[in-house]
Amino acid sequence: MRINIIGAGLAGLSAAITLAENGVKSNLISSMQSERAQSVMAEGGINACLNTMGEDDKIEYHYEDTMRGGVDLADKKAVQGLCENAPEIVKEFYRLGVPFQTNENGIVQRNFGGQKKKRTAFAKSSTGKIIMTALIDEARKYETYCLIHIYSNHEF
Ligand SMILES: Cc1cc2nc3c(=O)[nH]c(=O)nc-3n(C[C@H](O)[C@H](O)[C@H](O)COP(=O)(O)OP(=O)(O)OC[C@H]3O[C@@H](n4cnc5c(N)ncnc54)[C@H](O)[C@@H]3O)c2cc1C
Repeated sequence: MRINIIGAGLAGLSAAITLAENGVKSNLISSMQSERAQSVMAEGGINACLNTMGEDDKIEYHYEDTMRGGVDLADKKAVQGLCENAPEIVKEFYRLGVPFQTNENGIVQRNFGGQKKKRTAFAKSSTGKIIMTALIDEARKYETYCLIHIYSNHEF
């Protein structure tokens, strides 16, 4: 069995890599190469309650700020899942080689995008490009094991 994933930006690459880590094969299909996905343009950083800035941050505060940012239109269950999983995801990106700004307490976080706490991990002003580079490398590793097949320039 091979799962079809449409889109090879941050979401699609993450899905394909997670499946591959669990031994599940996928086809990663996109109209453009990952290097040209919108994800590459993200500059400010990625939000997660890592609580490295001495502000007593909590997942529930991240949830509240995110719901407020979406004027309560966002899917509550999806936002809850995002906020709960974000810390592990950011740590995983760091493990994959994303050079987030760090200090002696770990990953540095700053205020960004309507968040009331310093909660945004960043890699200079090219966070999206740098995360995508790490994920593209990781996906290519699994491509060599035939766990991910990449089909760029395929439009649905
Ligand atoms: C300038 C800018 C700055 C941003 N800054 C930040 C930030 O600092 N922090 C933050 O969290 N977010 C930021 N964002 C938002 C963030 O980049 C996006 O929310 C995120 O990248 C979306 O990822 P994605 O994988 O869902 O989509 P994308 O990266 O857009 O990937 C979509 C994929 O689908 C493919 N596709 C599209 N249509 C078709 C089709 N018909 N058939 C086949 N494939 C198709 C594309 O080729 C691409 O591979 C920013 C966005 C922009 C534009």
